[in-house]
Amino acid sequence: MNDILPDEAELWERFEDTVRGWLRAYGYRPIRMPVIEPTPLFARAIGAVTDIVEKEMYSFVDSLNGEPLTLRPEGTASCVRAAIQHNLLYGSPQRLWYAGPMFRHERPQKGRYRQFHQFGIEALGFPGPDIDAEHILMCARLWDDLGLTGIRLEINSLGSGAERGRHRAELIAYLEGHGDALDTDARRRLHSNPLRILDSKSPAMQGIIEGAPRLMDFLGDESLDHFGGVQALLKDAGIPYRINPRLVRGLDYYNLTVFEWITDKLGAQGTVCAGGRYDGLVEQLGGKPAPACGFAMGIERLVALLHEEHGEEAAQAARMAPDVYLVHQGAEAQGPAFRTAEQLRDAGFDVLLHCGGGSFKSQMKRADASGALAAIIIGDDEARAGEATVKPLREASEQKRVALEQLADEIGYLLFGEEDNGGV
Ligand code: ATP
Ligand code: MG
Repeated sequence: MNDILPDEAELWERFEDTVRGWLRAYGYRPIRMPVIEPTPLFARAIGAVTDIVEKEMYSFVDSLNGEPLTLRPEGTASCVRAAIQHNLLYGSPQRLWYAGPMFRHERPQKGRYRQFHQFGIEALGFPGPDIDAEHILMCARLWDDLGLTGIRLEINSLGSGAERGRHRAELIAYLEGHGDALDTDARRRLHSNPLRILDSKSPAMQGIIEGAPRLMDFLGDESLDHFGGVQALLKDAGIPYRINPRLVRGLDYYNLTVFEWITDKLGAQGTVCAGGRYDGLVEQLGGKPAPACGFAMGIERLVALLHEEHGEEAAQAARMAPDVYLVHQGAEAQGPAFRTAEQLRDAGFDVLLHCGGGSFKSQMKRADASGALAAIIIGDDEARAGEATVKPLREASEQKRVALEQLADEIGYLLFGEEDNGGV
């Protein structure tokens, strides 16, 4: 679990601003859920025999009433619970998004943390492949908006429950044939959740997985049509993709379309975004049946990719510098300095008011380091005259004294090159 310090947090803020603008462009609305839920919600939604539920959840008993609770490992279960609980699905379908911390007790490594952060996007009540395609298209645009390149798309279809059932029987028979060669995880899951074995990252298992019966070969017309519908829209939008028949995802609620966006620039933890359809989940959690599709992006991994691809330039662009830094000294200057700072904020400027005293020289050093475009200096002299000195910090022009009533205009002119800064 990491502290995210100001230099890094500024980059997160910029990233989040871009994402929020992108979500508005597609008509998604915000929803905020608690970070703690009753433990059974996750077992029911994600599946009892999954890595997350078996070994990654931070679960505890509420000491006041004995209720089993869990820090959410993902957001879909909570979002669907909230939609059911508050009847959001009565009228029209819902396009929703949320963001925040998720918690999984994993082995920490680069790109894998125990508290990490996601943007989650969920579309509830949409049956067709059009919404699946919308989600994938959205991602492609976001990578573009963020200036990220080389994130490749893998898709698969998990078909229906019945199709997975028929595949499952053959898969178990195939895996049983490999008896001793299976690792302990695979042996344990052989009869409870064999599909998940295909998602195993163990190198020893890769050969066996390679030869396993493919779920794709068990899909019927309806599933294939849906998958074809998604692909037609992707092709139409010019979005390259690869069908990866072994893409199964780590959560049990998925059916039909699943997808992952993957980069090679972050080492082993290369999946920056993943999702798919989960048509059974609303009913499974007690709602009136409603089809749904969604995905989640890992903020840490996407910000790491921004560092990787744009380095200093990204950090620089995200840097939050004030417009002006207000330097003041002397008993008579303090009142006018505070009033002036507020006046400038009224006019729309970002003002860093020096606090804590010190010499003009040391204050000017702070002003320079703040990244402000100009320093405003109010000493006793200026205070008595009802004036301030404006000193540009990022260009070689002369400092000048200005009446306080004129100050906002002067700064507007300095910053934007216009006499009239009414648009600030
Ligand atoms: P992985 O295969 O990397 O474990 P996952 O399938 O468990 O990922 P999801 O539950 O689909 O991941 O979460 C969506 C995204 O959230 C991932 O693609 C990844 O970007 C991010 N993510 C998941 N777990 C972590 C983690 N422990 N630390 C950082 N980011 C994570
Ligand atoms: Mg995982």
